[in-house]
Amino acid sequence: MFGFRVEARSGRARAGKLLTPHGEIPTPVFMPVGTAGAVKAVTRRDLVELDAKIVLANTYHLMLRPGEDIVAALGGLHGFTGWPGAFLTDSGGYQVFSLEGLRELTEEGVVFQSHLDGSRHQLTPERSMQIQQRLGADIAMAFDECPAYPSTREAVDAATARTTRWARRCKDAHARAEQWLFGIVQGGVHSDLRQRSASELLALDFPGYAIGGLSVGEPKPDMRRVLEQLDAQLPEDKPRYLMGVGTPEDILEGIARGVDMFDCVLPTRNARNGQLFVQGGRLSIRNARYKSDPLPPDPACGCRTCLTTSRAYLRHLHLSGEMGAATLLTIHNLSHYLDTLRAARQAILSGRFEEFRGEKSRDLLGPAVS
Ligand SMILES: [Zn+2]
Repeated sequence: MFGFRVEARSGRARAGKLLTPHGEIPTPVFMPVGTAGAVKAVTRRDLVELDAKIVLANTYHLMLRPGEDIVAALGGLHGFTGWPGAFLTDSGGYQVFSLEGLRELTEEGVVFQSHLDGSRHQLTPERSMQIQQRLGADIAMAFDECPAYPSTREAVDAATARTTRWARRCKDAHARAEQWLFGIVQGGVHSDLRQRSASELLALDFPGYAIGGLSVGEPKPDMRRVLEQLDAQLPEDKPRYLMGVGTPEDILEGIARGVDMFDCVLPTRNARNGQLFVQGGRLSIRNARYKSDPLPPDPACGCRTCLTTSRAYLRHLHLSGEMGAATLLTIHNLSHYLDTLRAARQAILSGRFEEFRGEKSRDLLGPAVS
């Protein structure tokens, strides 16, 4: 039911297949973020049409609303949402650690206040496993501590050690056979802590490994250095997931360093703010220069929005606060991300990933679209 194999390499970039109970996922893959069990502004049909293969859902949001009991009673995330593809759930850790001032951290776990109604809840490794097993995603994530950036070395060291202890508790508490549990490597920008975190997690033998604690504000060269280090240390035959990254450029940097899976809110969040990812850069649909522009948002794109909608009309919908604007812009941005990763995969399969990456970065240095 589960499996992963690398089919081709180009430099350090890998093209593979991830097998899940809800379909075969060609990698490298981008996972649209479906926070509350839905990717904001689009429907299930849109995601099928975009050929998305796997959606990320947030444990923190779903445990608070509607609660995992309701989701489980309706057949888990798949039965509840009707999404036929795969799901991955995060552990809830990242969100509760972001609730600065509303949380209390102990070795046992985190007590926090709901951002919805102020009610108190506890997340522990065991509780996160219980919720994620009831949500029933294809892939669950270990409950980790992601330190803020910047943090002192002592704080990162303590968080990294706790992440290992919690990973062990997650592994003990996880029993759902039709769900994979991934470990999360922490360690900030410190090479020795990353090394220790990875080797401790490898000893626990997870079927896949995520790289957490990057894209939290550290300089880009630090992110690339950590990825190169982990590329050499993580097993070749297991999937690697870089959490919360990033721009199309960051994703290509990750692929070049052996990463297989990515998620990020940028394409969906920016769409709702009127910012489009297009060939050659970014385009802000609010810009007055598009007021009577008959061109599609991205003439090089074949998505439903670009095939049917002008920049002028999109700008009008967006500025008028029409809900359809968010839908049309989100469809385009997700299409841009998914197409970029499909093209990257094809380039790896034909052994020309570095040329592909070079073409893409030259694109980005081209005339600014804004
Ligand atoms: Zn498009």
